[in-house]
Amino acid sequence: MSPQSTGWGGSRRLLRQVRDLMQSGGHWQDRLDRLVRLIADDMVAEVCSLYVLRAGEVLELFATWGLRPEAVHRTRLRMGEGIVGEVALTGRALSLPEAQEHPNFAYRPETGEEVYHSMLGVPLLREGRVIGVLAVQNKTRRSYTEDEIETLEIVAMVLVELIGGAGLIGEEEERHTDSTTTLPLRLSGITLHEGVAMGEAVSHERGIVIKQIVAEDVGGELQRLDHSLHEMLGALDNLLERSELAESGEHREVLETYRMFAADRGWIERLREAVRGGLTAEAAVQRVQKDMRTRMSKVRDPYIRERYSDMEDLGNRLLHHLLGAEGSAEANDLPDDMILVARTLGPAELLDYDPARLRGVVLEEGGPTAHVAIVARALGIPMLGRCPDLLSLVRPGDFMILDGDHGQVLLRPRLSVREHFADAIEVREQRRALFAYNRDLPSETKDGTRVSLQVNAGLLLDISQAHDCGAEGIGLYRTEVPFMVREAFPDVPTQTEFYDRVLTLAEDKPVTFRTLDIGGDKALPYWGGTPDENPVMGWRAIRIGLDRPAMLRRQLRAFLKASEKRHLRLMFPMISDVSELTRARNLLDREMERHLQNGGSEPARLEVGAMLEVPALAWQLPALFERSDFVSLGSNDLFQFFFASDRGNPRLARRYDVLSPPALNFLKGVMRQADEAGAQISLCGEMAGHPLEALAALGCGFRILSMPPASVGQIRTMIRSLDLAELEEFIDDLVVRPDHSVREVLRGYAIDHGISI
Ligand code: PEP
Ligand code: MG
Repeated sequence: MSPQSTGWGGSRRLLRQVRDLMQSGGHWQDRLDRLVRLIADDMVAEVCSLYVLRAGEVLELFATWGLRPEAVHRTRLRMGEGIVGEVALTGRALSLPEAQEHPNFAYRPETGEEVYHSMLGVPLLREGRVIGVLAVQNKTRRSYTEDEIETLEIVAMVLVELIGGAGLIGEEEERHTDSTTTLPLRLSGITLHEGVAMGEAVSHERGIVIKQIVAEDVGGELQRLDHSLHEMLGALDNLLERSELAESGEHREVLETYRMFAADRGWIERLREAVRGGLTAEAAVQRVQKDMRTRMSKVRDPYIRERYSDMEDLGNRLLHHLLGAEGSAEANDLPDDMILVARTLGPAELLDYDPARLRGVVLEEGGPTAHVAIVARALGIPMLGRCPDLLSLVRPGDFMILDGDHGQVLLRPRLSVREHFADAIEVREQRRALFAYNRDLPSETKDGTRVSLQVNAGLLLDISQAHDCGAEGIGLYRTEVPFMVREAFPDVPTQTEFYDRVLTLAEDKPVTFRTLDIGGDKALPYWGGTPDENPVMGWRAIRIGLDRPAMLRRQLRAFLKASEKRHLRLMFPMISDVSELTRARNLLDREMERHLQNGGSEPARLEVGAMLEVPALAWQLPALFERSDFVSLGSNDLFQFFFASDRGNPRLARRYDVLSPPALNFLKGVMRQADEAGAQISLCGEMAGHPLEALAALGCGFRILSMPPASVGQIRTMIRSLDLAELEEFIDDLVVRPDHSVREVLRGYAIDHGISI
């Protein structure tokens, strides 16, 4: 990241004038009136207006230069209404050469603004919340330059502090008392780590108050910056040494890369550059963070976004050091049961909070590969991401229920709902105790059929969980996961060491390694390629492996080296026809030859399998069973292709059901052929980890299920309460029904038969 000019240096004079004016005496209205005129003059704009967010989520024109004075305190816009409302709603600057052409333009005759064409609006943000909008307008159609946008944003930053600090606007004006902030609300998100938690909302961005924007003494500010950077690095080292994180694993790697970024010279140089431009050290941090956010908004690659979000975390950390203990997460005024809410959160920021109080985390952004999610899983903290509008709807201190099992947040729930969830948490605890009790009992149905329970893994942490939950093995090891948190494509020795570690940690449990399933939504930053129009059906998984054999061969080489005299189970993802498996096996044979020629030993046992994820393969099962030692049915991909229904599209989430006659018929058909051929076939994918779905899979003939470690306990308990012969007959009747879904019928059956679901 190269140093970049802050470009606003010419406006230092304006900032000083703004500050002096705001600190001068007189009535606040008079000061605001003079202020907007000052800004308009400096920016050569015909209009400058200040809107303030008032009770009821209404933006009120508080002062203007250029619009009709009688509109002041009369013109009001709702959030999202007009350009000003749009700026407030999105929290982002909007620059328009022709405002009247914007679909959101709202004409207010009392303002007389029809003669103005171009408009630039910036939000006034305090602690991540919009408290108003500052806008300039010009009669000519013009585009505002980046420098002008930046200048207005910095003026807005100064204004925010002055509005609060000088008490220009009464506290009651800033308090939002409308219904959206007091009524119960339900928000949806995606689960980043399962679990249910309740507690008081704590906003992560609390307490960062920047009182001074303009540096009085640039040299002194540079020294402050260096001192705080030094202090931050020392504190980070201490934090990352915390005992519960000391164990190796992906979270360690994430945290160590983070530590490396803290010393990134490009970043430090950009901070210095901003200070040299005349900002205080803390304002410089905010400035650089804002640049970063702007760049991040254009980046789609999840890996690069994670890097940016690490930098954002570092910026916040540095702010805390610059501002002393004030506003720090270590403050002991935090509630005993807290749910942390934030736009994004860096991996180390999570560690700042006392784990004894932190019950859960909800983020506006963040995906499953977010670094913070990896650390949350390592710590067992329930977490939800992609929860839009979270920060504008949650007030610090609000009571919240985080329901990670259903991807929802219940905000300010009624007492009865709270009681219901408190009971649910209690029941979960009891069930967990029951699962723990069952842990060492066989996963066997009441009528004596053994079912092999295995786990899906991707993190080393999952392997220790496989031991904890008493799984028989690792049914799916997603090798792309460790690739995704790295800086560059790992070479053969690195991969070998990694697979060796997996096998060692797994001890006597067999591990089924799946070769790289990259492409689609699993992008590797160092792996180029043009984005596909429809990535999940695009160039991914084995298709890349066969087209770029060097990459696949390196992985196969590493598997062979790591598995000398050990049991090696390998499977290839997204096989669409048997010829693909044959080609992949040929590559493996060549690597084996090479391995032996180089003096390597054979694995003690080698099994090669294919994933059944593409429906076409189901019409080649006899040939498939002949050429593979085992097959694993990946229900996540398989059923999205089966129903032509994107697995990640929330609009389609409940549209089709795997518990439906067509899907169950498909599974039964596959299992019938597997039985005839005496083939080994397992079910991996989310389906295997949900009791009702797993129940149906057993009824269709599956006897090997691989699932997330957290599900093993409840699936074992379900199996132990089940009479399988009876269930199979019932499923035979279900699959001939004309229904869209048989979920409720199956649920009723489970309840009637005392099956634990
Ligand atoms: C699947 O598709 O069911 C599967 C297990 O693979 P993944 O979820 O990794 O695509
Ligand atoms: Mg898949």
